[in-house]
Amino acid sequence: MKRVIFATGNEHKMVEIRMILEGLGMEILSQKEAGIIADIVEDGSTFEENAMIKAGKIAEIAHGIEEYKDAVVLADDSGLEIDYLNKEPGIYSARYMGENTSYDIKNQTLLNRLDGVADDRRTARFVCAIAAVFPDGSGEVVRGTMEGIIGHEIIGENGFGYDPIFFLPQYGMTSAQLSPEKKNELSHRGEGLRKMRSVIESKMQG
Ligand code: IMP
Repeated sequence: MKRVIFATGNEHKMVEIRMILEGLGMEILSQKEAGIIADIVEDGSTFEENAMIKAGKIAEIAHGIEEYKDAVVLADDSGLEIDYLNKEPGIYSARYMGENTSYDIKNQTLLNRLDGVADDRRTARFVCAIAAVFPDGSGEVVRGTMEGIIGHEIIGENGFGYDPIFFLPQYGMTSAQLSPEKKNELSHRGEGLRKMRSVIESKMQG
């Protein structure tokens, strides 16, 4: 069976990835399950570049292992862009205020920076780039987005990261109040993964 290796150790992401890529007829492994360890410096200047850096590095290792030489290697890079803050925290979303700072503090800081800003200027989006490196060495990258606005308080227990301040006006709730199924349907990562699924399908047929 053909394999997909996803360059993440994050179990939360793997659940979403398995839900969306199942049915491809491919075995889906995390980088950890494939036993691949790599120290990767994400020094690109866009989500796409960072996703490709990760996929490229893991593919270099995976394609050198007999068992994985036919695997498709995927990696993602995601984050939150707030228009009023010149698209901050952007590609630095995970590192914003330091990796070890709690999201309660990060979220409250962002709310404070938007204090007094009217709703029509609080537009924001989650972005997710997904990169693939195929066994023939070729690469593809796709992008998914989810549009919303930054709310006025921290609300919701689901999701992670910036979800409790990301308000979806059409649903009247934050993305931290969506069920996991609904979030998959609407999210930047869901959209990116569905696009990537089509890319893999056509590449495998062709
Ligand atoms: P990555 O794991 O390098 O892609 O880092 C993504 C960072 O962006 C996360 O640590 C979060 O801070 C933020 N982020 C990405 N996707 C989401 C989401 O769906 N909800 C909330 N925060 C997110």
